[in-house]
Amino acid sequence: MIVVALVAGILAWSLTEYGLHRFVGHGPLRKRRRLWFLAPTALFVLFQEEHLAHHRDPLYFAPTWKKALAAAALVPVIGSLAALVVGPGAGLGFGTGYALTYLAYEVLHRRIHTHPPANAYFAWMRRHHLHHHVRAATNHGVTSPLWDVAFATREVAEPVSLHVKLAPKWLTDESGAVRPEFARDYRVVGR
Ligand SMILES: [Zn+2]
Ligand SMILES: [Zn+2]
Repeated sequence: MIVVALVAGILAWSLTEYGLHRFVGHGPLRKRRRLWFLAPTALFVLFQEEHLAHHRDPLYFAPTWKKALAAAALVPVIGSLAALVVGPGAGLGFGTGYALTYLAYEVLHRRIHTHPPANAYFAWMRRHHLHHHVRAATNHGVTSPLWDVAFATREVAEPVSLHVKLAPKWLTDESGAVRPEFARDYRVVGR
């Protein structure tokens, strides 16, 4: 039972990740700024502003205290709701799966932009997410393609074509050319 709850928590985070990126990060929330005094709206506006800042500069990440604030607002609410529905034991399992995958997402997303891939999954994650930086209406999931496939927003670019401003440092050599090991998967344009 605890394993089922844990897996459900992991899936719930991955759906949150998708929904936050698609409907909050790139959604119509700007118009709702007038409702800033409603706590969830304020958090959504904050998320959208930080996310769009990350799109303008992929090496910009929201300060850790803001990320911690968001997690502190979200995780206890999700965990308590789960505990109310399925009881405290399974609720704890669900909340743990949710919180750990949330944390993993934060670390993995940052590393997409700062470190080269160490295995096939990380390489896939980089192609999938860096293409989102090119076409923001696609590839809203970061750690999995699950919900992009389910909601038909997945786009596979072969190769991923990145403007030089979007190309991570690990992708290119000193001259700005794509490193040979990534030449099949990426192009850098606008140099
Ligand atoms: Zn990113
Ligand atoms: Zn985005």
